[in-house]
Amino acid sequence: MKCEKSTTRHERFATLDRSYLWHPFTAMRRWSRSDPIIIESGEGFELIDDHGRRYIDGFSSLWCNLHGHRVRQIDNAISEQLGKIAHSTLLGLASIPSIELARRLVQVAPAGLTRVFFSDSGATAVEVALKLAFQYFHNTGRKARRFIALKEGYHGDTIGAVSVGGVETFHALFKPLLFETTFVDCPNSFYHPAGGGSAPVVLSQVEAAIDAGDCCAVIIEPLIQAAGGMLTHPTGFLSALRKLTRDRGVLLIADEVATGFCRTGSMFACDRENVCPDIMCLGKGLTGGYLPVAATLASEELYGAFYRDGPAGTFFHGHTFTGNALGCAAAVASMDLIESSGLVASLDAKCALLEQRLARLANHPNIADIRRCGLMVGIDFMMDPAARAPFDPSLRIGEQICRRATDMGLMIRPLDDIVVLMPAPAMDLDTMTRMMDILEAAIHDQLPR
Ligand SMILES: *Cc1c(COP(=O)(O)O)cnc(C)c1O
Repeated sequence: MKCEKSTTRHERFATLDRSYLWHPFTAMRRWSRSDPIIIESGEGFELIDDHGRRYIDGFSSLWCNLHGHRVRQIDNAISEQLGKIAHSTLLGLASIPSIELARRLVQVAPAGLTRVFFSDSGATAVEVALKLAFQYFHNTGRKARRFIALKEGYHGDTIGAVSVGGVETFHALFKPLLFETTFVDCPNSFYHPAGGGSAPVVLSQVEAAIDAGDCCAVIIEPLIQAAGGMLTHPTGFLSALRKLTRDRGVLLIADEVATGFCRTGSMFACDRENVCPDIMCLGKGLTGGYLPVAATLASEELYGAFYRDGPAGTFFHGHTFTGNALGCAAAVASMDLIESSGLVASLDAKCALLEQRLARLANHPNIADIRRCGLMVGIDFMMDPAARAPFDPSLRIGEQICRRATDMGLMIRPLDDIVVLMPAPAMDLDTMTRMMDILEAAIHDQLPR
């Protein structure tokens, strides 16, 4: 009886979804013929659908959740803030939660980043970074407008962010709308088997692009290019790029929207190579994955170039919800939790568990490559890895594996035939073990050895 009721209710919502919603990055014709999973609540590291079925959140609700769902401390911080005010503007006014959050961010960010500009999504954090870099050059009397970016890089879906994006499937169509960017190779040896993408080659490509003139900044996802396929970089590439850009007087923008807040095994990816970029973009995990707040951090030198009278002294950019009070309160609570739970120190054991479990998959005949940076994992499936022969895309192997995993209680999403795992940094070892058990079973169901 109860089950029947939940089925009718589900059907009603599914029909309404098909009638009214347009889902992001989704082929709607295919979607409208499928039965959607409708999430109704969450608890800890699990998502719960409208039938009451539970799924381990193996992708951190698209890479943003840090501490789990319905975390008491963050819930309370939002409620408390709600008892004061939900939102007030930062245009011409200051607000307590944004002040507290900015101070906390500067305290944990690489030393040298001293100023915080708030916005509301990763893409807007990137827009802010690009415009800041451009105006910095203008303000310091140099003409430069060109950005250097990496192939397979992803920085968000607004036009500026797409202009520096290098994922052809997402970005090719919009080329006529974009500003011109110089792309260099991605320094991942699997992605570039011929050796064209080794760190020294890419660094020399960057150098040549700077030599060509007119360049104001290099933008990069540090250590791992996430949406482009979990493409990891060789150790030392980031620090070498920092040295090169500093020597050549070009800004370095680190887009840590995906990598920030413990994903890579440390607080920020830049920490792993002791790098301080000139500009750093934060989003996704900033509020623990609760609310849309993003931030662009800048160095004091960059800020100094705007600290003057006249039009050059204003950065003409802002968003209605810049520095939203509820979001900032959630972010401060999340940063308290990172500290009080000793999250950074707990990551090594979790990375070790992932490493050990992934090793068991390494000689599966259809697994071509397993890439991991901290808690960010991509498993690359091919029909014949030795011959570098991919599966027929119409087989949708990545999707099939993830769907099987979902049926067994693990929510994950592929990037084509790359199965992505991104557990929340706070996920306990038992849940992580269950996650790996299901993943392994799903792979062996879909692709028996
Ligand atoms: C997700 C992502 C973005 C875009 O963030 P949104 O909040 O989706 O706009 C930008 N950069 C990187 C590296 C990302 O992973």
